[in-house]
Amino acid sequence: MSRPSVAFDPASALSRRARTMNASAIREILKITQRPDVISFAGGLPAPELFPIEEVRAATNAVLDRAGAAALQYSTTEGHSPLREWIGAQAGIPAANVQIVTGSQQGLDLLGKVLLDEGDVVLVEAPTYLGALQSFQPYLPRYVQLPTDEGGIDVDALEEVLKRERAKLLYAIPNFQNPTGRTLSAERRQRLVELTAQYGVLVIEDDPYGQLRFSGEPAPSLYELGLRLHGDPDRNHVVYSSSFSKTLAPGLRDAWVQAAAPIIAKLIQAKQGSDLHTPTLNQMIMAELVHDVLPRQIERVRQAYGERAQHMLRAIRAHFPAEVEHTTPEGGMFLWLTLPARVNTGPLLPRAVERKVAYVPGSPFYALGGGENTMRLSYSNATPEQIDTGMRALGGLLREELGA
Ligand code: PMP
Repeated sequence: MSRPSVAFDPASALSRRARTMNASAIREILKITQRPDVISFAGGLPAPELFPIEEVRAATNAVLDRAGAAALQYSTTEGHSPLREWIGAQAGIPAANVQIVTGSQQGLDLLGKVLLDEGDVVLVEAPTYLGALQSFQPYLPRYVQLPTDEGGIDVDALEEVLKRERAKLLYAIPNFQNPTGRTLSAERRQRLVELTAQYGVLVIEDDPYGQLRFSGEPAPSLYELGLRLHGDPDRNHVVYSSSFSKTLAPGLRDAWVQAAAPIIAKLIQAKQGSDLHTPTLNQMIMAELVHDVLPRQIERVRQAYGERAQHMLRAIRAHFPAEVEHTTPEGGMFLWLTLPARVNTGPLLPRAVERKVAYVPGSPFYALGGGENTMRLSYSNATPEQIDTGMRALGGLLREELGA
């Protein structure tokens, strides 16, 4: 074969859409912090020692014994019926309003695909989940940031934004938010649902952590409040996204979306083009686990994360300079630090890694930038001993940096 006279540049073939994608700051950081000598509070990883390995083994055997070849065959795009029915029953809605997805990350991507046109205004918390920004970015929305405080989104500020902007959708994480660990208060939930209904703005409620509450009182989901307001799952302006990743195991990639029929119909078409369906075997395994193993597992994980969060909060009080502000999560896997404005946590990270401790700088979690003086710490994937050692090292670095 003769060589072509013009050298081909594969990068020149990339679409405009592909050019909007950036390497995730988190992925890059995770690479450094995977060194075994570094105590990492950076990754949002569940505690692997809590994974129910034997129970998954038993469920897999049961599924293969019972379903045989059907567990290894192609299956429907909507998802495995018994799993959809179980999820629907938990939410008090028909299975028809439930779409199984391959990780809630896929749900976010598919929702972006079926809901967003270029230039659509998307309201996001400041800060918000970086992975959602990554999912929506290729559909070229225009982000508007909503101010947040200890009680989550500031709903007065939301009302001002809704008066000013023709918003298409609002993306929110009301429970133990990633990255801050904050929870939207019950009163604000009600107001948020009413305001968005009044202005005709669709809400995506991302709730992978809701089951992992270790203190305080549960509040109704936005989805539930939307359902009460409209009285019909096919009229609900709230779309709900959740996952078994944080309660059971992320490697199974079993997750779901609850939405009104016209949105589900489009999600099915979009998912067909994406991966045909979520792995049949994984869905059948999950349908086996939800009844007994899942509730036990949620209890174990809740308790462990509650202890770890307490440990981290105690370490902050013991080792950190007084000017460092922190959130106090009531569940989930994260807490958030705000340092004095003169500190930039980005350039500080390599110095933390030299001291064998890692965190995620806060700035990438802001759709429109900001938060250079913030950081996210995850307590889920570190033992209490590692939390003590790592927080002592990080506290030492912050004291030095602040001259405290
Ligand atoms: N949403 C939020 C808020 C998350 O924190 C995560 C995981 N880090 C996801 C979605 C994606 O989770 P999964 O794809 O494992 O369900």
